[in-house]
Amino acid sequence: MHCPFCGADDTKVIDSRLVAEGESVRRRRECQTCGERYTTFETAELVMPYLVKRDGTREPFNEEKLRRGLERALEKRPVAAEEVENAINHIKHRLRTTGEREVPAQSVGEAVMTELRRLDAVAYVRFASVYRDFQDVSEFQEEIRKLATETAVKTK
Ligand SMILES: [Zn+2]
Repeated sequence: MHCPFCGADDTKVIDSRLVAEGESVRRRRECQTCGERYTTFETAELVMPYLVKRDGTREPFNEEKLRRGLERALEKRPVAAEEVENAINHIKHRLRTTGEREVPAQSVGEAVMTELRRLDAVAYVRFASVYRDFQDVSEFQEEIRKLATETAVKTK
């Protein structure tokens, strides 16, 4: 693997551990040329189903797009990068285990909402408001009300 800073290919693994319930390996590497350190994640490549959009077109699952969506919702929220990786892995796991070759694109959105709901209420509402495309304030308030009720039940 080339060093992302100087392009040298002589890098040394200085730490390696399992993350995301053993589905990924996180490696700390050090470039032997410029001395910079960086982290890589290694995950076995498994077949992901195609996503079928509302208009019937299909597109391949795009992990970067998923990550951007999560990060946008979680901007400035107190959620660790490792938690985001875990959420992405959960979502991918769920999609793979459907055993389907194609799934509706909205099932990704629903999976993201499930993860965000667990991670951070503010991020969840942010994502939901965009994703569900709330038509007016009352729909938005309804979602918050439901969330507040669930939280109350959970902490009882
Ligand atoms: Zn380097």
